[in-house]
Amino acid sequence: MEDKEFPEVRKVKDILRQMPPVHEIQRDERFEQLIMEYGVDAGIVTQTIQKVLGGIRQTILNGEWDGPAPGDSSFTRNLFKKASELLEKQQGYTLKRVINGTGTILHTNLGRARLSDRAVQHVVQTAQHYSNLEYNLERGERGSRHTHAEELLKEITGAEAAMVVNNNAAAVFLILKALAEKKEVIVSRGQLVEIGGSFRISSIMEESGAELVEVGTTNKTHKSDYEQNINENTAMILKVHTSNFKIMGFTETVETEELAEIAQRHEGVVFYEDLGSGALYDFQKHGISDEPVISEVLKKGADIVSFSGDKLLGGPQAGLIAGRKDLIEILKKHQLARVLRVDKMTLAAIEGTLADYARGETGIRNIPSIRDLLATPEYIKRRAEKFIEYLEGSWSPYRVRILEGTSQVGGGTMPDVELPTFLIGLSHPKWNASALARKLRLEASPAVIVRIQQEEVQIDLRTVKEEEEKLVVEALKTFCSQ
Ligand SMILES: *Cc1c(COP(=O)(O)O)cnc(C)c1O
Repeated sequence: MEDKEFPEVRKVKDILRQMPPVHEIQRDERFEQLIMEYGVDAGIVTQTIQKVLGGIRQTILNGEWDGPAPGDSSFTRNLFKKASELLEKQQGYTLKRVINGTGTILHTNLGRARLSDRAVQHVVQTAQHYSNLEYNLERGERGSRHTHAEELLKEITGAEAAMVVNNNAAAVFLILKALAEKKEVIVSRGQLVEIGGSFRISSIMEESGAELVEVGTTNKTHKSDYEQNINENTAMILKVHTSNFKIMGFTETVETEELAEIAQRHEGVVFYEDLGSGALYDFQKHGISDEPVISEVLKKGADIVSFSGDKLLGGPQAGLIAGRKDLIEILKKHQLARVLRVDKMTLAAIEGTLADYARGETGIRNIPSIRDLLATPEYIKRRAEKFIEYLEGSWSPYRVRILEGTSQVGGGTMPDVELPTFLIGLSHPKWNASALARKLRLEASPAVIVRIQQEEVQIDLRTVKEEEEKLVVEALKTFCSQ
């Protein structure tokens, strides 16, 4: 046994002995080049080289090395190439831009809404410079961060007052805690929803210390169900917008106006509507959904409402609260407001987005998620045709077709809405659909996320920007030229 092994071991040792020492590699001009290219300290490049050498040494010991011999000049070239790849990986972000070819507009996994140009510019300005975040320029003294975005929100929703917190889940929690702790809150059984990521109205209520009083049944709740359960310990009537599901058929819910009227008849009872998606824009006028517009809900008599910043509104993650001034004052002063407060970049993004709304239809069409929601199937079809022309402009092995389909709004909003669209169906003679989808995820830069259906890759251009189309086509072409 040992006799046989001996020459093998000696051979491995010989190979290892030929490996260039680190100090020698450090003198190579390519070492300097890596420092410049990645803008890192020499120590970091040295560590990377050592990691690569360690890996190669182990592979040689395992008898699995099939690269150039350590004495060769191509060994050093290979070493620097590997070091460069590793540096690339180490210096790269884990949070990366992707191209959304799924057609799902508010895709929660892909970051929900994208910001408008105006919002982005405002964020950049605010992040790069000092600002009057908590400074009153008029008086030359300390101000409040709550003033930002409030004026625009008041103007757009018609509310007396408004404020912004971290997300809508935080808004629900703050409102229950500040206005209903140790008191009763009446909710219809049909509205005790769970929203993705284990956010349950019933659990959040328990956390807040408010006592849940469930009324009615899953499909039907009447006015009298609310009225009969009001007593001296009732703080609130809560209506939850069931944004992520629909109960069909034999149903009855009590309208906003009626709930507002009940609350008004009982001193000290607040009527709060958690709107979830929060549309500032009237999608109904385009025949899309029956999503309530916030200003309408307030007009119908809700004392206070809350909604997300990154769902239908098309802004950053945030929770927006609007309503009666006396109630908002209580919220602003509550300890939790400090815990749930947003940073200046979020405020800038909200303000930038609201500024688009304040410009009417012209500004609103600059908000990416709204523009995508309103895109017509004809427009998407024309782009799909151009996409195919571009792909087939040169030799292409792909089989391509255009087919009718539907896009989803996503983000748990408008679950029953199917927006008609046109899809690009793609298949390759060698790779099956999931292999092609994998290539698009891992080899394209930026990664392209697609649908897999009918054993082909399908791309919905509704959520792909025009300037991104080229990137997708280039990626597809590159796979075939490798
Ligand atoms: C989405 C949603 C929430 C949570 O909002 P986030 O901004 O995601 O925290 C709360 N309530 C309703 C009804 C929702 O639809």
